Amino acid sequence: QGRVSSIRTANQEIRADAVLLSLGIRPRVELARQADLRLGETGAIWVNERMETSAEDVFAAGDCVESTHLISGKRVWIPLGSTANKQGRVVGINVSGGAAVFPGVLGTAIFKVFDFKVAKTGLNMREAEQAGFSPLSAIVRGYSGAHYYPGMKESVLKVIADQKSGRILGAQAVGEGPSDKFIDVISMALLGRMDCSTLGNADLAYSPPFSPALSPVLVAAHVLQNKREKVFEWITADEVKNKLERAADEFVLLDVREEKEVKEKRIPGSLWIPLGQLEENIGKLDNKKEIAIHCHSGARSYKGYLKLKHKGFKNIKNVDGGILCWPEELKGAL
Ligand SMILES: Cc1cc2nc3c(=O)[nH]c(=O)nc-3n(C[C@H](O)[C@H](O)[C@H](O)COP(=O)(O)OP(=O)(O)OC[C@H]3O[C@@H](n4cnc5c(N)ncnc54)[C@H](O)[C@@H]3O)c2cc1C
Repeated sequence: QGRVSSIRTANQEIRADAVLLSLGIRPRVELARQADLRLGETGAIWVNERMETSAEDVFAAGDCVESTHLISGKRVWIPLGSTANKQGRVVGINVSGGAAVFPGVLGTAIFKVFDFKVAKTGLNMREAEQAGFSPLSAIVRGYSGAHYYPGMKESVLKVIADQKSGRILGAQAVGEGPSDKFIDVISMALLGRMDCSTLGNADLAYSPPFSPALSPVLVAAHVLQNKREKVFEWITADEVKNKLERAADEFVLLDVREEKEVKEKRIPGSLWIPLGQLEENIGKLDNKKEIAIHCHSGARSYKGYLKLKHKGFKNIKNVDGGILCWPEELKGAL
């Protein structure tokens, strides 16, 4: 009584002990308005690359100004302390007779929710589409070290690239693992306008306590390259859900995870054959139907995909991001 117990969204109810309301923020531009300075399209103060306002020799920096997004080229308002400090330096140099520029931002940001580190840089899929790109994404699981090393923590990494040029456009990471490291590395790739082939060969530090031998950043770049070169076909979890609901007769969702994982959670309507038993159970699969293969995050199901392809299956797809990307809470069932 008198305490919050859950929140109700359009399609589900989520139990909660506390609810945080994010009501949005606005730039404080009253002073600029009074001084008749130009405001930009975002509502924040317009400045040029020298951080000079529309009035000569009047400079502004920090949360009250808008910037240029280095990927989309659009004017954006992303007020962050990291940006304010760089802009302050540029203003300081310029007001004291120097010549410094602040080219813009990537929107790189990070925060922590309990043990979860949530980070992003560049554009997400929707923003990339709005900016005129044809975005592709790769979702991979990444550990803070080699998988056999004790105490490793995991983060899920999503990297976005342009289908046509291969240019890396953005990334997001979430989990207890090295979300910060993944995002900072990709932020550098964005600054250097790298494509997925260049990023896939980046020489990153490796030793078991610090990273898997093949960094998850590089794995994501390789997946993006494979997608661009159409090495395999894929399907999103949302598309799978749609097909199971609307065309279940012509569609098979094949789960290749281990028994322990299936007991924890399973997608209703899926056919379960562990990867190691796929070949001996191949007769259970109808190769006239469309088959989508999933595992936890997409790596084992890719092996399953290759096995089926080798056996002559044509209409097969790997589920992007696996069960990790399933849009609803799931229960276990054998
Ligand atoms: C809770 C919280 C957490 C945050 N965490 C992060 C983070 O983790 N990472 C990150 O990058 N950013 C973070 N930010 C954003 C970051 O704090 C701001 O982007 C940054 O402080 C902006 O610097 P600024 O100098 O533009 O403005 P401010 O730091 O707000 O400084 C403006 C100053 O001007 C003063 N002032 C206002 N009006 C007048 C006036 N008329 N006369 C004289 N003085 C005036 C104010 O009192 C204030 O001291 C966070 C913000 C909040 C609120």
